[in-house]
Amino acid sequence: MSTVFTFVPAYEHNLVGHPEHAGRGKAVLKRLTDNQVLGQVTNLEPAVATREQILRAHTPAVFDRVEEISLRGGGNIDADTYATDQSFKQALLAAGAVTDAGLAIANGESKNGYAFVRPPGHHAEFNRSMGFCLFNNIAVAAKEIQASTNCKRLMIVDIDVHHGNGTQDIFYGDDSVLFISTHQFGSWFYPGTGSAQEMGSEVASGANFNVPLVAGVGDEGYLAVMDHLIAPAARKYQPDMILISAGFDAHWQDPLAAMQLSLTGYASMSQKLIELADEICDGRILFVQEGGYMLDVLSCAVQNSISALLHQDEIHDPFGLSPASSYPKLDSLIEELQVLHLLK
Ligand SMILES: [Zn+2]
Repeated sequence: MSTVFTFVPAYEHNLVGHPEHAGRGKAVLKRLTDNQVLGQVTNLEPAVATREQILRAHTPAVFDRVEEISLRGGGNIDADTYATDQSFKQALLAAGAVTDAGLAIANGESKNGYAFVRPPGHHAEFNRSMGFCLFNNIAVAAKEIQASTNCKRLMIVDIDVHHGNGTQDIFYGDDSVLFISTHQFGSWFYPGTGSAQEMGSEVASGANFNVPLVAGVGDEGYLAVMDHLIAPAARKYQPDMILISAGFDAHWQDPLAAMQLSLTGYASMSQKLIELADEICDGRILFVQEGGYMLDVLSCAVQNSISALLHQDEIHDPFGLSPASSYPKLDSLIEELQVLHLLK
């Protein structure tokens, strides 16, 4: 079975000087083309999400506001989040592409997949667009997968360096989705949410699993989180499908954060997540693009993730390991989270 790939570069959703700009899609397309990646995947033509699909994850006001701002020629949604006259259409395409790729996997037409889409989605909450994100693509897809396929129990793992506050918000009272987010955490670091104590509402307690990290965590720390928290949580939860919010801004060269992951570390995490899906849910896993603002890192990381989905071992890491001389110890955090989430 194939690896599905869908691509929404949203070239018309662009703001000069903003980190989430159209050059991201161009860099990824160039790398995938130059390295003959696109011939190895099943390319899925993106189609727009419907209003009904968006409204499973958002209030009508969120949908209407993005439409209205685009109709009047564009503008700012908040201090960080822009929309152009084409952004409404592009945001619908992004959510639609992720949804269709997810359905292809959930229905067994494809084995696994990667959705490179812009604008990203994981900060968009039930009742507001924010943090470069207009609609929460992965949440819209998850809701449609649950509504129309046999995959009812989903796990979303957010490896973007920022907390996936939007996805947390949308599924906070819903234990049919286990949401795990690894992120740099501190009241001064965007978006400021994501503490270990945010575990889901009373009816879904434990279905929200935050892994708040201090700055400077590198490959070893992230892989320990994979092995000692994410993998056991997945084995315990037994999802029918895994969705990944794949942000590559925890790389040591990324301008927006202070983590020390390498491309090799990211690729190892992708491989482990894919192995987990192979073990637990017949390999059903979809990677969905979120952040990643250093263009060469972003494009290599997308290529490495697709290689892992194709079960190829090849890893491209022209930047090598972080130059940091020491890394924070995570033993006590891991221990604390194992206890909180009843993993031991
Ligand atoms: Zn991010």
